[in-house]
Amino acid sequence: MNVLTGIAVFAVSLVCLHVLGVSCTPLHPKLFDGVSPESRAQLEHYRLNDDVLPTHYDIEIKPFFEAEPEREAFTFNGITVITVTASVENVTQIKLHKANMDILSWSVMRKSNSMVVRSGNNTYDEETQILTLHLNETLLKNVEYLVVFNYVGMMEENMRGFYRSYFKQNGTQVWLGSTQFEQTEARRAFPCFDEPKFKATFLLKLNYKHLEYNVFSNTPIAKSEVIGNDRTLATFSITPKMSTYLLAFIVAPYNTTGDDILQVLSRPQAVNQTTYSINEGLKLLNALGEWLQYPFNSVPEITRMYMAAVPDFSAGAMENWGLVTYRESNLLYVPEDATSLQQQRIATIISHELAHQWFGNLVTCEWWDVTWLNEGFATYFEYFGTAVVEPAWELDQQFVIDKLHTAMQTDGTVSTHPMTHPVYTQAQATAIFDTISYNKGGVVLRMLEHHMSTEVFKAALVEYVKDRQFKSSRPEHLFAVLDKHNSSASAFMKPWTTQPGFPLVSVTTNENGFSITQQRFLINGTNQEDKLLWPLPITYATNGDEFSNTKPTLVGTETYNISVSNAANVQYFILNNQQVGYYRVHYDDALWEKISKALRTRGFAGIHVLNRAQIVDDLFNLARADVMGYSKALDMLEYLKEETEYAPWMAAANGLATLALRIHPEDEKLFSQHIKDMFGKVYEYVQFQAPAQSERRLHTYLRRLVLDWTCRYGHDGCSKSALKEFETFRTNSSVKVHPDLRQVVYCEGVRRGSLEQFDFLLNLYLTTNVATEQQLTLQGMSCATEKAVIYKFMNLTSSPDVRSQDKSTALSLLLNNQYALESAASYLVENSARWAETHGGYEYVAIALASILLRVKEAAVKETIAQFAETNKDMLGPDAFELISKGLEEYDNNQRFTNDHRDEILGFLTLKAGSDASRTGIFNVVVSLCLLLVAIW
Ligand SMILES: [Zn+2]
Repeated sequence: MNVLTGIAVFAVSLVCLHVLGVSCTPLHPKLFDGVSPESRAQLEHYRLNDDVLPTHYDIEIKPFFEAEPEREAFTFNGITVITVTASVENVTQIKLHKANMDILSWSVMRKSNSMVVRSGNNTYDEETQILTLHLNETLLKNVEYLVVFNYVGMMEENMRGFYRSYFKQNGTQVWLGSTQFEQTEARRAFPCFDEPKFKATFLLKLNYKHLEYNVFSNTPIAKSEVIGNDRTLATFSITPKMSTYLLAFIVAPYNTTGDDILQVLSRPQAVNQTTYSINEGLKLLNALGEWLQYPFNSVPEITRMYMAAVPDFSAGAMENWGLVTYRESNLLYVPEDATSLQQQRIATIISHELAHQWFGNLVTCEWWDVTWLNEGFATYFEYFGTAVVEPAWELDQQFVIDKLHTAMQTDGTVSTHPMTHPVYTQAQATAIFDTISYNKGGVVLRMLEHHMSTEVFKAALVEYVKDRQFKSSRPEHLFAVLDKHNSSASAFMKPWTTQPGFPLVSVTTNENGFSITQQRFLINGTNQEDKLLWPLPITYATNGDEFSNTKPTLVGTETYNISVSNAANVQYFILNNQQVGYYRVHYDDALWEKISKALRTRGFAGIHVLNRAQIVDDLFNLARADVMGYSKALDMLEYLKEETEYAPWMAAANGLATLALRIHPEDEKLFSQHIKDMFGKVYEYVQFQAPAQSERRLHTYLRRLVLDWTCRYGHDGCSKSALKEFETFRTNSSVKVHPDLRQVVYCEGVRRGSLEQFDFLLNLYLTTNVATEQQLTLQGMSCATEKAVIYKFMNLTSSPDVRSQDKSTALSLLLNNQYALESAASYLVENSARWAETHGGYEYVAIALASILLRVKEAAVKETIAQFAETNKDMLGPDAFELISKGLEEYDNNQRFTNDHRDEILGFLTLKAGSDASRTGIFNVVVSLCLLLVAIW
């Protein structure tokens, strides 16, 4: 699964920003972790036992999109027959999952002779969602029984289970049904043993109205019979042995495009948007199959691949075997209406989901405590799989910024968790689909690849997939195979996967070389009692030629000496070539001085672009953690003025975005001047212009980043050019803005504009047929600065015009806009009932307010929110109140941070402003002197 918003409701500040390429400021990504509902049952009670094992499901579903006599609309009839065997003697209970359904009848019979097993009552635990069937006789061990259920289920709009969605066609609403079962929602569609390890085969039948709908599932339709009442019963061929969460089906008036191998399913008006994903999907499917020496369709039941675009989708995409589902914006592509980053995102998400066909579907994590066995690999292939078919995109560089640096943001907090981490409840299963399982998972695999060498890594994974095919897997299964290919592999992997966090490595020079010390890095600077050590992959460079070596020496001790002859005289010493190792590095003063000098040398003295990005990211974070002072860090970062590469600038943008939130309000003018000064040269380098045909992709991304920052901080040239483009487009909407300039143009138009400019984009938002353009217009609208316009944005977010899948995205976009925070807070306070109703409860009001508290600087806003919480304590309920209280605490922490560091940052900014001013002053004197001379002569 590709998570966009699934987990993000508790960390709204993080959502989606990356998707759109907006600077992300993950200050306290784990803040809201503790707020997920407490488990109310004993933890072990959430798990099924192994007494009874399912082997096969026969499922028949009959949906009703309209009310029929004695049938409510958006319900479905279900018949599920599960073949089970008892694995032990004396079984008198069958425990399995169900949720949100009425079971009309159930029975158990022996499969061979249909003899009914005498049964008693059943009991159901709402909390664990476990149904217990009590039997009056015991099941025979190793004999097959059938458990038969008749039930009625609900197709809700909550994007869980078998749910309903819609699209508009010629003004009318057309309903469709689709599924999302990961992690624990298959039980909403059929009673089942809803844990990944209980693999079984599935035979699905869908009873549907054939005049209005088509049906799709994991496997092809084997048989189709018309059964009267305009209904058809479609029987799909049997699936491979797989987990419940991977079953999928769609009942929708969808069109299909593509060939026999791969087809894209979409609503009819979007059929002309599928060419790109078909072509890219085919290339990726082949590339991944070749990489793993295991073509996807060598699983006999999976003969072709469907990829479906679903209008309402809670995650980004879902890897159901043979029927991958996506958000429209992650699958449908129109070159004239999508940025090149959106295009890349489509390709990488396809790669992520297709990689799951092996890592997840064929070989499945045994339980959600090792979700990284699915998502870590999918994250690795998201970039490195796409890189095989798109080598020019330089995804290896983007991986470090997008995955490694972001993983460190979460993993550097005290509340992080190890990759392998206990999970019991449904809420915990959802929560572990986080940056640690995804990004850290991918990062640790990349680190392992360089330790083993790509060739050996590949061979090991080829063997692992074959070894565990159609089974579930735990880390020890993976490690055992890895060890066959590299004897130190599991010793390397274990600490990285079972310990929380990551190390900070400190380097000092000595007579024989360099001595290194490792200790856990924590962003709030606290010292951990427990001394964690990691096997550090050590590589280093003292000149430009050495950065290509990424084959490390492993160092497992707290301290270690790297002997380098003539250490005192090296030009520089930089640890962790291309930042393959997952750690930060801090140097002694003399070494930092050398690095600083090298960075200011022509060509950066050969320092690899990824190490420049590493240094930038480390400097911001070392300062934030009080490992080094801000003035020193900011001074070194001045080198960026000469930087022209995307990776270091992206690292800088992330660091600056966080810093911007901690600048004292009275110092903002100076900070703003600093930003314009930093970005001055690189703005001239990228220019406000549409990308050239042959332009390097990272250069296009760099331009987007630079324009975003320069326009936001009031760079004259950027602002003027953007407004000109916006107004030209507003006057004549056939003169479209180049997609790669659209973000900045739309944003600046609304930022410097008023209601008219907002309404222009709103109209586009409501009428466009293209999901990527809808994202861009929503983002543009979120740049509003006037109170009335911000209120309109908040009203829009609370209306059905913003689909529920986009609501948290809309909010986080707005909250990324510093000017909107005060008005957003007052809107929420004034309209809390409306917000609660349209978003799903007061906890959403609380999430929004707490997210504001993480960012806002004005004490008055904090007071308003605190007062609101106190006055409405009862209405909010304990969870929501607690959430706001945490936000208030966090506000105070942030204030403290700002005050503690203010003098140093202000000192630096003042010094800078002073030296710039005096330089300008001297320049002016020189100019006037010259003019004077001219006049005299
Ligand atoms: Zn995934």
